[in-house]
Amino acid sequence: DLVDVAHATVLVRVDFNVPLQEGSIADDTRIRAALPTIESILERGGRVVLMSHLGRPGGKGHEPEFSLEPAATRLAELLGRPVAFPSNDCTDDDARRAVAGMADGDVVLLENLRFHPGEKKGDASFAGILVAGVDAYCNDAFGTAHRSDASMVATPTAMADRPCVAGRLLERELRYLGETIAAPERPFVAILGGAKVSDKLKTIRRLAGVVDTLVVGGAMAFTLLKAKGCAVGRSLVESDMVEEAGRMIEEVAASSTTLLLPSDFVCGAEPKAGTTTSISGTEIPDDMMGLDIGPESAERFAETVRAARTVVWNGPMGLFEVAPFDQGTRTVAEALAAATEAGGTTIVGGGDTASAVQGMGFGERVSHVSTGGGASLTMLEGGPMPAVEALDAT
Ligand code: AMP
Repeated sequence: DLVDVAHATVLVRVDFNVPLQEGSIADDTRIRAALPTIESILERGGRVVLMSHLGRPGGKGHEPEFSLEPAATRLAELLGRPVAFPSNDCTDDDARRAVAGMADGDVVLLENLRFHPGEKKGDASFAGILVAGVDAYCNDAFGTAHRSDASMVATPTAMADRPCVAGRLLERELRYLGETIAAPERPFVAILGGAKVSDKLKTIRRLAGVVDTLVVGGAMAFTLLKAKGCAVGRSLVESDMVEEAGRMIEEVAASSTTLLLPSDFVCGAEPKAGTTTSISGTEIPDDMMGLDIGPESAERFAETVRAARTVVWNGPMGLFEVAPFDQGTRTVAEALAAATEAGGTTIVGGGDTASAVQGMGFGERVSHVSTGGGASLTMLEGGPMPAVEALDAT
């Protein structure tokens, strides 16, 4: 390891943005993913100050439902040592005293960075408070690596005189995704799904001419289908995006990339089980909403995936949390497993997609489950990663 951390206080940006259900952690994958870095610093006699965001608080001070306290408790269990969790604010006297008073082997987790307005603004004076009294900076928050929040960019910038490095998780993600995307074996297939097309429009554009086939499922497909003039009933559509979606379809058509859209659906009158109808063909009745891709589409997508040598998947194919609308997502996950067994490289990115794939038992049967959704898309798009550029070159 590059940095001598014995007796040093290392400020570590982690991604503890875990899903909470009634105040307890529904999935601790992201906390576990940070353990190699934390344990490595502790084993070498260092002191660890952890910082993270959780959810989307308003940046107006402490909001109990976004507190990182459950993460501190869980981390202490996983590490088998106490984790100090000072006060309500990452910048106040309590927090500063906790950092200043650390001994070797101590761990402090600061409260949610986004309680402070400076975090989202990338504020340098906020970063200046965070770096006081620390000897090195380590970024291990791949899930946030595409953002320019203060803890990601202004903090290492404020520490130009001290070592700023990538943690184990960030390094592994960057290496894996970077190498795969830089020289993909073909056919190269990207699968996009999920609810919001606005999040992924730029991705679709950038992937035109890059991937051999672009598969679009999930609710976002309805905005594209609407642009093509199909009847989508009451399915989720982003009306203000339809026109742009139409232009995007033309751009993809003019490129070397084949666009695959669903051609049959599993529909319901409401987004819940018990009212299910199958629709073959792309005309959804006015009183119905498409909640999953149909079996014919799922099989068509799966066939493309099985024949691929590189697959990147972000976004579920339907309302996978509610059976029977999980079938399309399951069929695609199975196809990724088959492609992996046949020697292909398969990458699943994004919180929802990762938890769907893991929950369905395919976590070990794909090449890589990325901890970052937006970050892996940004890498796939070849977009800028200022947080990575702010670290010392290795
Ligand atoms: P996103 O955050 O944009 O990746 O969207 C993920 C969410 O989209 C998941 O909670 C899915 O249940 C939901 N979703 C995907 N397809 C549909 C659909 N056809 N109708 C309603 N929700 C959907």
